[in-house]
Amino acid sequence: TREWHLAARPHGEPTPEDFRLVEVPVPEPGEGQVVVRMVAMSVDPYMRGRMRSGPSYAPPWEVGAVMSGGAVGRVVASRAPDLPEGTLVLTDAAWREIAVLDAGAVRRLPSPTDVPPSWFLGVLGMPGLTAYAGLFRVAAFTPGDDVLVSGAAGAVGSLAGQFARLRGAGSVVGSAGSPEKVAWLTGELGFTTAFDYHSGVAEGVAAAAPDGVDVFFDNVGGAHLEAAIGALRVHGRAALCGSISGYNAVEPPPGPRNMSLMVGKRLTLRGFLVGDHTDLRAEFTDTVSGWLRSGDLVVRETEYQGIENAVPAFLDLMRGVNTGKMVVRLTSDP
Ligand code: NDP
Repeated sequence: TREWHLAARPHGEPTPEDFRLVEVPVPEPGEGQVVVRMVAMSVDPYMRGRMRSGPSYAPPWEVGAVMSGGAVGRVVASRAPDLPEGTLVLTDAAWREIAVLDAGAVRRLPSPTDVPPSWFLGVLGMPGLTAYAGLFRVAAFTPGDDVLVSGAAGAVGSLAGQFARLRGAGSVVGSAGSPEKVAWLTGELGFTTAFDYHSGVAEGVAAAAPDGVDVFFDNVGGAHLEAAIGALRVHGRAALCGSISGYNAVEPPPGPRNMSLMVGKRLTLRGFLVGDHTDLRAEFTDTVSGWLRSGDLVVRETEYQGIENAVPAFLDLMRGVNTGKMVVRLTSDP
């Protein structure tokens, strides 16, 4: 079976040479263990942080060792009574095709599911909960709020904007990296307006939300955060989810130049990690499953095929090739 190892720590943008695809034997499962064949694995922006040795919120990957990350897999052999062969599970053991895992290292998923298994890596998984917790708890969204979302055509952003719309936002403005993404946001996803930030972030925000916004959901940081501080109204709130515009930076990027506006406008800018909000998972799953059943929520994935394309998928994610959640399909599981 094959797995990806970290070959080197990148300086700036990662390259294919920073990774190595390695052939390894599959060990025999011990008592209480299962053999999991991965159906789909996730590539996520936070993995860029795991490639560096310095402190990040997830521990660094070791050079020369297998990487890890979210995946949905099928138990193909079991020595754990609670996880019989055929069980669909969520694990953190991907960047590999097959893994032998302790029963405690997997979470059982509803099986058979009425949604594609990969959705547990997106809309019904970590990115979905991130959008839900960030919008409703961290930014304290209330119906009628005007909302601005950066990174709006990605996994988290496309959900945060739709959640706001479905809960009665006054308006939802999205920023994204191409005309096609902008058209998708204002078309299928029902955003009020959207703009391509390559034509100017400050200009885009000013034109799309001339009267300001109440809530900012930030996936991008940098110029987007500065423009949003300018656009937030009195008592405005921002959920700081990520700052992907700086993830490949070699020097710390400059901070927003307009922080002094926070005082007069009494702004709240609050960073958060999804892992601190797992108490919302049941409520989140209920709500989002309802929106999926009613057809109110649009889900899109960009799917790459095969373990050999996991690194291209990750590199392309960081460059914005994806619309919606980027996933890598490893087996053609039903
Ligand atoms: P996305 O699906 O949004 O993929 C990343 C996107 O970032 C790309 O599609 C690209 O879209 C955009 N991007 C890349 N470079 C830039 C840039 N320089 N400026 C603006 N946009 C850029 O990923 P996720 O939805 O998984 O993650 C979105 C954000 O949420 C990330 O910052 C991530 O770190 C964060 N996150 C935080 C969590 C938490 O607990 N706080 C949990 C999960 C995610 P485009 O074409 O628009 O440029």
